[in-house]
Amino acid sequence: MSHEIRISERVQKIAPSLTLAVSQRAARLKAEGVDIIGFGAGEPDFDTPGHIKQATVEALARGVGKYTHVAGTPELRKAVAEELSAAHGVRYGADQVIVSCGAKHSLYNLFMALLDDGDEVIVPAPCWVSYPEIVAMAGGVPVILETSAEDDYTIDPARLAALMTPRTRAIMLCSPNNPTGALIDAAHMAAIAEVVLRHGSEHTYVVTDDIYRRLVYRGQWASMARVAPALAARTIVVDGVSKSYAMTGWRIGYTAGPRPLIDAMTTLQGQSTTNAAAVSQAAAVAALTGPQDEVERMRLEFDKRRQAMVSALRAIPGVRCSDPAGAFYAFPDVRAYIDPARGIADDVALAEVLLEKGRVAVVPGSGFLAPGFLRLSYATSMNNVVEGTRRITEALAALRA
Ligand code: PMP
Ligand code: GLU
Repeated sequence: MSHEIRISERVQKIAPSLTLAVSQRAARLKAEGVDIIGFGAGEPDFDTPGHIKQATVEALARGVGKYTHVAGTPELRKAVAEELSAAHGVRYGADQVIVSCGAKHSLYNLFMALLDDGDEVIVPAPCWVSYPEIVAMAGGVPVILETSAEDDYTIDPARLAALMTPRTRAIMLCSPNNPTGALIDAAHMAAIAEVVLRHGSEHTYVVTDDIYRRLVYRGQWASMARVAPALAARTIVVDGVSKSYAMTGWRIGYTAGPRPLIDAMTTLQGQSTTNAAAVSQAAAVAALTGPQDEVERMRLEFDKRRQAMVSALRAIPGVRCSDPAGAFYAFPDVRAYIDPARGIADDVALAEVLLEKGRVAVVPGSGFLAPGFLRLSYATSMNNVVEGTRRITEALAALRA
């Protein structure tokens, strides 16, 4: 018996996550036996470090299967507060931290707690697929600030100032950036702070998504609170263990910021998901307080793959690729291959050709508000980087022929 289910307008308006769609499609093809190389998922291929797993097993033996405080266990909130205090040069108390089910969930709770209908959030683009959708889900309006490869994706202070209105509640920063890998250095961070301090109200916040903070290969990561202490009280930090500790599936992310905001997010979380999984919280304590050498080992390995991928992409005629300073994505400009006359209408069609003919999964740039680009994750083995870029080179050569 078929019956048409009426889905709420709220959910009908949401675009599905393209990054997840691409990686799930690649996984499906692989399961069917198709030889696919996946550059889709922004997910480390490394296993979660052994000492974290060991500490989790010990926690299970002690018994951690109960509800915890909605905002997280005292141990984890303290560990997060200490780690973030050291990184940002600001004293965060444990009561200024809420732990959620991944940084994506942190951002969702944050914007639900911060925005009223029609409130604006300035999002520099190219941007991660989920920012505009999460802002919109919370009733907000994403206001896009364009940046370009030619300017190293720098946020122009004058353009930022021009987009600020009395309804601007937040500026969304992501450094290193997904998808471009661009880093906002201290001088540019200071310039952004200057604009917010001058043009914003006391209700304008800066949200920094620092999930790739430890994956930097060139230059230095800069903390907004450290660079601009005058803005520290209006800076909200979103961070987590997914990327740096190869813990994507454990689903632990966190937010640090003003106590009333953290309390509001806790109320929301208490009426929706309750605490993040207790066992994952125990694992996150081990990640943050244990030895950090695995983080560095993975960073060095990502760096080698980054260099291999970028030079292979740059060797393809017509492809331009900026040098990503951090995260684990290459973001080539492939506009030279977009040709409606030859059936390649846009980057989505090109990604489809690469999947069908090249057997390589990549994410179309338009999902990141950057049509004409492709995102390739190098969080995969060096063999895959070499073979996958070889396949792309071949598939693109066939298009030119
Ligand atoms: N922010 C950015 C920029 C990301 O790329 C991701 C993807 N993982 C997230 C947040 C969410 O991470 P998590 O897996 O912790 O939800
Ligand atoms: N953030 C990663 C990505 O951009 C994982 C998928 C997702 O959560 O979007 O690929």
